Amino acid sequence: MPHLVQSAIQPAGIPAASGSGSRVSTQGSGAPRDGPIWRRNDMKRTMHCPSCEDGCEFRPDRRTEEREIRGETIVLEIPLWVCAECGETIADEHFGDPTEKAFDAYREKHGLLKSSEIQEIRTKWNLSQAAFAALLGMSQATINRYEQGALQQKKEDELIRACANPAHMSSLLQRRGATLSDRQRASTMAALEGVRPVLSWSALVDAMPSEVSRRSGFRAFDYNRYAAVVTWLCSNVALVTQTKLYKLLFYTDYLCFKTHTRSLTGALYRHMPYGPVPVGFGTLRAQLEEDDYISVDEAMFQNGNFGEVFRPGPKATEVEAAFEATELRVLRYVRDTLGGLTPTDISDRSHQEAAWKDTPPKEVISYEKAAELSLSIPD
Ligand SMILES: [Zn+2]
Repeated sequence: MPHLVQSAIQPAGIPAASGSGSRVSTQGSGAPRDGPIWRRNDMKRTMHCPSCEDGCEFRPDRRTEEREIRGETIVLEIPLWVCAECGETIADEHFGDPTEKAFDAYREKHGLLKSSEIQEIRTKWNLSQAAFAALLGMSQATINRYEQGALQQKKEDELIRACANPAHMSSLLQRRGATLSDRQRASTMAALEGVRPVLSWSALVDAMPSEVSRRSGFRAFDYNRYAAVVTWLCSNVALVTQTKLYKLLFYTDYLCFKTHTRSLTGALYRHMPYGPVPVGFGTLRAQLEEDDYISVDEAMFQNGNFGEVFRPGPKATEVEAAFEATELRVLRYVRDTLGGLTPTDISDRSHQEAAWKDTPPKEVISYEKAAELSLSIPD
C-alpha cells in the first residue's frame, strides 16, 4: 500500500471548503472524484474560453493527480477553472509546477529541506556553490541541482542540514578548509564570527588608530609603507598565499616594534582563527590590486588544492616608500626564517605567540605583546 500524502494546496483567493471532504483526496487511483465544488457565487469569474471563443463564466474546481516519488504515491489536488458553458478547463495561474509541488509534499512528509532552505544555509556562510560542495565532499553540479529543485537523498539532506549550525560549520572549515581558496575561507570565517568586513577606504581609515601609542606600534597607518612591505615580501619570498602574507606582515611589524619600538607599516592586526590578520585586509588588498602593486593568481599547489598566489604587480617598483637599513634587516630576517614555511606551518607558529593567545578572538592585538614574540633579530 503506497503512502498517500495530503496536499493542502489552495489556489490563491479560494478559501478551503470547510468539512466538505472535497479538499483533499485520500483515495488511491480510481477513486471517485468529488462532485463539482460550488462555493460562493463570487468565486466564479469571467474569462476567455478557448473552446467557446467567447468570454464565459468559470467556476473553480480541482482534479487529483498522482505522482510516484521514490516508490510512494503523492496525490496532488490541482486547482482549475471550468467553463460553465462547455466544461473546458483552464489551469489556475497561481498553482506552480505540479512536479515541484509533489516534491515539496514529499519533502514535508520526510522532513527534507526545501531548495530555498539549502540555498539559505549556503549563503548564510558566504559560500559559493563550488565551495559548499567541496566542504561537503559533493559535486558543484549536485548542489546546483538541489537548489534548482531536484530532490535530495536523506543522507545528503542531513549533511547539508548540519551546516546550519555554526559550530558544525566551524569544525567543517577546520577539517576541510584547505579545499577552499584563501579568499573564500576568509569570507566564510568572517561570516562565522559575525565580523563585518571593512568595505570602504574611509571605513578602514576610521578603524585605524588616530592616536600614536605603544598599543598601536608608535606609528600611524601608512598605506605606502604597507604597499612597500607587501611588494617586497611578494618579490622576495616564494609562493606567497594570503594566509602566509598576513603572518609575514605580522611578524615584520611586531619584530620591528620589538627591535626599534616602532612598527614598520602602522597596521593593526586582529586575532583570527588562522592567526593574526591586518585590520581591513580586504580593502587593502583591493587597493593594492587596483594600484597594480600586486597581482593575484589562482594556482594549484602540490597537494592538489587550489589557492591564490600573490605576486608583485606591474607597478610594484613604483611604490613610494624607502626602508631604513634597520627595517630592511628585519625584512630579510623574516624572509630567511619564515619565508620557507608553508601557510599551515606559519599559521601554526603564529598560534604559539602570546600576542595571538592572549588576545580574545576578533580583538586587535596590542603591540605591547611584541616583547614576548618567539623571534628576535640577532645582535
Ligand atoms: Zn467554454
